[in-house]
Amino acid sequence: MDEINLTLENVESVVQHALLHQPITDMHTHLYPPTFGTPVPNRTGSTDAGGLMLWGIDQTLTYHYLVAEVFRVVPATQLSFETFWKMTVAQQADHIWKTLFVQRTPISEACRGVLTLLARLGLDPNEKSLDSYRRYFSQQDPDEYINRVMELAGVQSITMTNPVFDDNERQRWLNGAAASGDRRFQAVLRIDPILRDYPMAARRLHEWGYAVQPQPDARGIAEVQRFLRQWLDRQRAIYIAVSLPPDWTYPIRPDANGPADSAARAGETMLEQAVLPVCRERQVPLALMIGARLRVQPQLREAGNMVGRADVSAVVNLCLRHPENKFFITMLSRENQHELCVAGRKCGNLMIFGCWWFLNNPSLIDEITRMRLELLGTSFIPQHSDARVLDQLLYKWPHSRACLQRVLTDKYRDLLGTGLRLTQAQVQRDARLLLAENFQDFLSR
Ligand SMILES: [Zn+2]
Repeated sequence: MDEINLTLENVESVVQHALLHQPITDMHTHLYPPTFGTPVPNRTGSTDAGGLMLWGIDQTLTYHYLVAEVFRVVPATQLSFETFWKMTVAQQADHIWKTLFVQRTPISEACRGVLTLLARLGLDPNEKSLDSYRRYFSQQDPDEYINRVMELAGVQSITMTNPVFDDNERQRWLNGAAASGDRRFQAVLRIDPILRDYPMAARRLHEWGYAVQPQPDARGIAEVQRFLRQWLDRQRAIYIAVSLPPDWTYPIRPDANGPADSAARAGETMLEQAVLPVCRERQVPLALMIGARLRVQPQLREAGNMVGRADVSAVVNLCLRHPENKFFITMLSRENQHELCVAGRKCGNLMIFGCWWFLNNPSLIDEITRMRLELLGTSFIPQHSDARVLDQLLYKWPHSRACLQRVLTDKYRDLLGTGLRLTQAQVQRDARLLLAENFQDFLSR
């Protein structure tokens, strides 16, 4: 079986088979197990309004990608933001389904995704109302449903994002329910305020009993280290993560002396003296997601974020100045992708990952993945789902897998053209690296 040789004729089916049978380790999502509570009514009864496990048709349709799209068709001059946000989740979902799926052709990637996931569950995507979908989901048990979705999507492990400065989530860890663990999920310690808004982070840390002042000092640095160690342990987190705006620089400009710059300077001190030392000590990577400008249209809430071109030299400086640290990097702007690939060729401690958010479209995944293979071989992580609603695994992975299949098929055909002999086992090895092992190996490196 392993000795099947690739030919121009069989290469596509060999690649398809290899990708389909390679279990995926999804390295970045916003998904949670049922121990974090779920706001979705289901056959097991009680719901938890602030619960973090999102799943089902109403949560799927009110995903922020679709909220942004519905306000293009029914603008706020016709249905005000206030009115929309006062509606129940089910009413918002009805509005989005009617507007984007019934009255229009659901051709956008986010819309197509909903149709793909319904079809994967064996549901007919042609319904005019959501009643039958709601009936289907109300009969599911969330815990069993996770298994079903993971099996259908081919996902073996889900990596969460666990923002420790979010009171709702933090409380769930402290009361023990969240920390009880679920083998299917891995935690990631998300610490944005420490790097982005240190005065606010310091205030919270002080409330929580850490001897931290608004300006970093030796005591504060040691206390932030203590805080990070405690939470890495509590969450059993496999890496630390931060999202940064496009104007983030490293190091900070020497002439930066305004009020906003003093917060940035404090963030940089904490990065260099608290976060990176703890990452080294624990041998955990730091993940930086760079390029989202938050709430450009605040009335759209989560749907109101914008992309901005960032400075790749900041990434290069960071990786070169801290060779003992490991960095996962993803950037949101298409314009940054080529320079980031070149940066990857200079820095062995830089692992490029994913086609994030506004890049998670087939045309861009195709372009970016091709370029990465050409510049980096197989030494990168082509995709993460970023799923916020469990059901999204059922479309994000099949759509990305189809792109990867096209690109790899072309690349193997080019190799066959040189006269190189390739086997099915080699294709399987590449699929394993790209969908699971590059991530796992980087963690344990
Ligand atoms: Zn994310």
